[in-house]
Amino acid sequence: FRMNIAIDGPAGAGKSTVARKVAGQLGYIYIDTGAMYRAVTLSALRNRVEPENSAALSEHAKTLNIVLRPGEHGQLVYLNGEDVTDLIRSREVTLSVSQVAANETVRSVLTDMQRKLAQDKGVVMDGRDIGTSVLPNAELKVFLTASVQERALRRYREIGLSQGITLEQLEKEIASRDKLDAERDISPLVCADDAIVLDSTSMSIDEVAAAIVNLSRT
Ligand code: C5P
Repeated sequence: FRMNIAIDGPAGAGKSTVARKVAGQLGYIYIDTGAMYRAVTLSALRNRVEPENSAALSEHAKTLNIVLRPGEHGQLVYLNGEDVTDLIRSREVTLSVSQVAANETVRSVLTDMQRKLAQDKGVVMDGRDIGTSVLPNAELKVFLTASVQERALRRYREIGLSQGITLEQLEKEIASRDKLDAERDISPLVCADDAIVLDSTSMSIDEVAAAIVNLSRT
């Protein structure tokens, strides 16, 4: 029996690392939906499509070909055939992505793609609206949180030094992205009624992954 697992939660809660581990342990496919929103954002920035220009952004999103492929070190992201796996993690993309993700057409284009990817089951999908909107029938839904201080600290260890950002800046940026994601009109970041809430503030990645694998077996 294969199921679909939805993992939602705010930025920096550890969703992608945990989701990748869970998928590896269950022999499932991991799908990072945030990467898809980031790919649309990268393309919009490159083509000077303003995120505020909702009509232009909608048209732009419809023309894009986004493909996710498993790689040796995690999921690879292709935008119109180009490997953009690293480019979508840039600061510019991170600062604009929530605005792009609030666009209705962008969301419906990506949601359709995500549902197709999950139609054969055996998928661990992480994002903001997977349990509430993309896969409302997922057999297991997890809402992964952690304090904003802890989430900023994790991001800082990941990228702070290399991208020259301070912990305080990261904390502010994460809080502002959470606010935009939680307050948008379409598919906001909320915990699904039937999701299991896991607070990872004082848990290791391995502990969280083990907890989710256990839940999938009960
Ligand atoms: O997961 P990640 O932090 O890479 O996601 C980047 C952004 O993409 C989020 O801040 C959110 O604005 C958007 N997103 C979304 N719905 C999803 C996944 C990501 O709106 N399912």
